Amino acid sequence: MSSPVELSGVGASDGIAVGPAYTHLEAGIEPERTRIPEGSFDEELARFGAAVEAVAGRLRETGENLKGTLGEEEAAIFEVHAEMADDPELLSGVEGRLRDLESPESAVLGVGEEYARELAALEDEYLAARADDVRDVARQIAAELTGGGGTGLEALATPCVILARNLAPSDTARIPKGMVLGFVTAGGSRTSHVSIMARSMGIPAVVGVGDALEAALEAQMVAVDGDEGRAVADPDPETVASFENLRSRREEERAGLDEYRHTEARTRDGRRIEVAANLGSASEAEEALGWGAEGVGLFRTEFLFMERDELPSEEEQYEAYSAVAQAFGARPVILRTLDVGGDKSLPGVDQPLEENPFLGWRGIRMSLEVPALFGPQLRAILRAATHGNLKVMFPMVVDAGEFRAAKGMLGARREELEAEGVPTGPVEVGVMIETPAAALGAAELAQEAAFFSIGTNDLVQYTLAADRGNEKLRRFQGADHPAVMELMRITCEAGEERGIPVGVCGEAAGEPAMIPRLLALGVTELSMGAPSIPRAKKIISSL
Ligand code: PEP
Ligand code: MG
Repeated sequence: MSSPVELSGVGASDGIAVGPAYTHLEAGIEPERTRIPEGSFDEELARFGAAVEAVAGRLRETGENLKGTLGEEEAAIFEVHAEMADDPELLSGVEGRLRDLESPESAVLGVGEEYARELAALEDEYLAARADDVRDVARQIAAELTGGGGTGLEALATPCVILARNLAPSDTARIPKGMVLGFVTAGGSRTSHVSIMARSMGIPAVVGVGDALEAALEAQMVAVDGDEGRAVADPDPETVASFENLRSRREEERAGLDEYRHTEARTRDGRRIEVAANLGSASEAEEALGWGAEGVGLFRTEFLFMERDELPSEEEQYEAYSAVAQAFGARPVILRTLDVGGDKSLPGVDQPLEENPFLGWRGIRMSLEVPALFGPQLRAILRAATHGNLKVMFPMVVDAGEFRAAKGMLGARREELEAEGVPTGPVEVGVMIETPAAALGAAELAQEAAFFSIGTNDLVQYTLAADRGNEKLRRFQGADHPAVMELMRITCEAGEERGIPVGVCGEAAGEPAMIPRLLALGVTELSMGAPSIPRAKKIISSL
């Protein structure tokens, strides 16, 4: 037996799998002919058109068939691939090469590769991950032109862990149900389709293990830990035993947590604590609800602005905010206005180069000075508030004057909309407590705010003068430092005196060791990454 090969990558889908390996290498289509005879342009173009039609039709059919098992979103991937197949640009690229007497099978692979490279060079992680999808679609068209041919995956008859340099959605979809135990791929990220699909199928996956995979391609057996992003090819018996142990521990842990998902968390003495989710986009809403989110404690709206090269219009923002509001119905959704600056830059906005960006033109400071940015966001929020229970809060506030100025802008936008006859909904206005100044001024802020939400990530870095992203400063990055605890105590006391709720939306809210301490301070709401919700509810119920 070969010696074990350690593979380390990104944990793309949770769970443990141990089983026989199946190595899937791309079919690697080599067109038999690269040239076509003179005068055959029309005929070859027609052949190409027919191949495109067949491939696009098959992709759409697969998508339709999978809707029931994979869900709408994942099945829609096949529609996107069908659109890539019949994309007019692909057609014109191939047509140009046919005129130069290149064969259609060679031309489609060539044009597909050109597009794939352009996509791979983009900084946007999601678009770059689409490069392999384009290659896959071109490969399918070339295969159709050269007489088709499967990949072998459709013939899998024993459940296996699939090892692959890359896996396209069409590969994944070909695997017969129940025949895949796990995935390990050299390429890919959490937003690659193999990851999306693995998650929706509940199959453990480790992606992005890189060149290390080459040493594992001959493996007979693989152990996968999708939580930790680790896999071992040809594991020795002790490793197998340790993975099996991990599996039963994790399964027990998860099963033990499931019952908490949809419960209302209450401490043993009956104190009700709301457990909400932190979201970065409207598309995460459904999943968060599945984890048991009772609302959204922090919607980081700047992510909506960062996903693209130009700023989203008021209308686009209105749609995104309305979608989350609708998904959560009567449950509260707290939208945080733009928090740009620090480590987050914004395409489409001129930001000065700063020596200390975290101490710079950040959050509400920038919003107040750029009405062209802030105005449309506030209008979109007020309009979207007609669809659900929206609240708004401002980031990086240091004092009541700043908070009043932001509220004033919100009020002005409301008057503007009312004068235009555009419907608006009510929104409570709160403040993030994430600077020591805001915590120290909490009593005054509490006179003006409907709620507080403590951003421990920034509160820790500003209190302890320790950059939150610097790995050398790990010992200064905990919210349990007495100075931070004291600032949070002051905040909670001010909230309690004024009778306004105090939530925590920084990472500390989901940390098991911090939850009892936050509750002891008087915090009434915790907001965290959605998968941590069941565990948090369990901890609360035990206190
Ligand atoms: C925080 O600072 O704790 C917070 C929740 O905001 P962000 O992490 O987006 O800065
Ligand atoms: Mg912050």
